[in-house]
Amino acid sequence: MNPLSLGPAELSSLSPRLALRPTFLLGSAVSNIVCCLVFGSRFGYKDQEFLTLLSCINQNFLLLSSRWGQEKQNPDTEFTTENLVMTTLELFFAGTETVSTTLRCRILLLMKYPEIKEKVHKEIDRVIGRSRLPATEDRSCMPYTDAVIHEVHRFADVIPMSLPHVTTQDVQFRAYVIPKGTTVIPLLSSVLRDTSWFKNTDVFDPGHFLDGSGHFQKSNAFMPFSADFLFKFLVIGSAGTGKSCLLHQFIENKFKQDSNHTIGVEFGSKVVNVGGKTVKLQIWDTAGQERFRSVTRSYYRGAAGALLVYDITSRETYNALTNWLTDARTLASPSIVIILCGNKKDLDADREVTFLEASRFAQENELMFLETSALTGENVEEAFLKCARTILNKIESGELDPERMGSGIQYGDASLRHLRQPRGAQTQSKQPCSC
Ligand code: GDP
Ligand code: MG
Repeated sequence: MNPLSLGPAELSSLSPRLALRPTFLLGSAVSNIVCCLVFGSRFGYKDQEFLTLLSCINQNFLLLSSRWGQEKQNPDTEFTTENLVMTTLELFFAGTETVSTTLRCRILLLMKYPEIKEKVHKEIDRVIGRSRLPATEDRSCMPYTDAVIHEVHRFADVIPMSLPHVTTQDVQFRAYVIPKGTTVIPLLSSVLRDTSWFKNTDVFDPGHFLDGSGHFQKSNAFMPFSADFLFKFLVIGSAGTGKSCLLHQFIENKFKQDSNHTIGVEFGSKVVNVGGKTVKLQIWDTAGQERFRSVTRSYYRGAAGALLVYDITSRETYNALTNWLTDARTLASPSIVIILCGNKKDLDADREVTFLEASRFAQENELMFLETSALTGENVEEAFLKCARTILNKIESGELDPERMGSGIQYGDASLRHLRQPRGAQTQSKQPCSC
């Protein structure tokens, strides 16, 4: 247990010689971190309101066995009050129960295996020392501790049946088709105790996550997320250029007939396969904000890629491109990968912008370029894939660093952090270490 997570009053009230039952303290500490994130302040551990909240969560957690999802009134939006309440609740449930239970298991396991505890201690002392707080960068220099943390997760198997998920599209799984909308309850235990992945599944052994030379080695059977990468994408451009239709066409494979300006798809995600990697694209649509020139900074924050859209039948939307480009590069990131899309390609007879001049503009501004039609679907998927492929190439060549804060890229599988290593060395998983 980290004494830093206790307030000074609580610390002084604890006698060092007293036996400690950590369930409540760990639960409170983790929950207080969530409180800091959500409310910007923490509770004292004797605060009646806080104690009531914790006790409610505890009781509810026992009752909650299957229905975590909720019915949505509008399938096009994720941003409902109900979703907000559920997400906040899930943050508390996830923090208060699963994390604190895992921490408790970790303490028990380290008590049971003092030789492992000793090695972790040595590594902490060597890399972090006693005079400063740990930092994210330390992790890559601490393969043994990293392996112990992973092995605790595997061995403790806190939620053997994971949480229920619902398929967002028809899925072909081996000889079966799982139709869209099916609730899937994965049996995580069967993977965590699979002898074809872990040699002694019933033994607590950090060696399950280390290679022969003591380097951290991620197991493909141990994937916290379903995709290798997660990229945040934006769709930007003037109102009426077809941004919402492009997103709809990409996600649903059909043209959105009843285009409504105010109620658009605000957010969509799709898992695509790019060069053998599964990439989850999390795509943000301005949802009408651009009409009032009020596209917020938070919209841009941390985006890895963008579709910059104009309408080939409207010179006005083409003339606005420079402004959108400046916003994307200053508010998202200078290295954001952008593809210019001349949409409504099907309306060639009404064209006001030629292919040639737009491709020159793209070249001058280092953009990729395609003409698309959200109506016929032409080049829509290509535009998203081209952008994703370029981001992946840039990660491989080292030009883009996903570890950088706000890169808009997250790993689903940490072994891919070694994408930049020469082929053959990829499974070696020696993390870049600056110590
Ligand atoms: P947004 O404001 O950029 O999100 O634009 P919308 O997606 O709401 O589309 C604006 C209008 O353009 C709607 O009337 C759509 O039906 C139409 N539209 C969008 N994409 C295309 C396209 O590729 N071809 C044609 N012909 N019309 C389109
Ligand atoms: Mg729209």
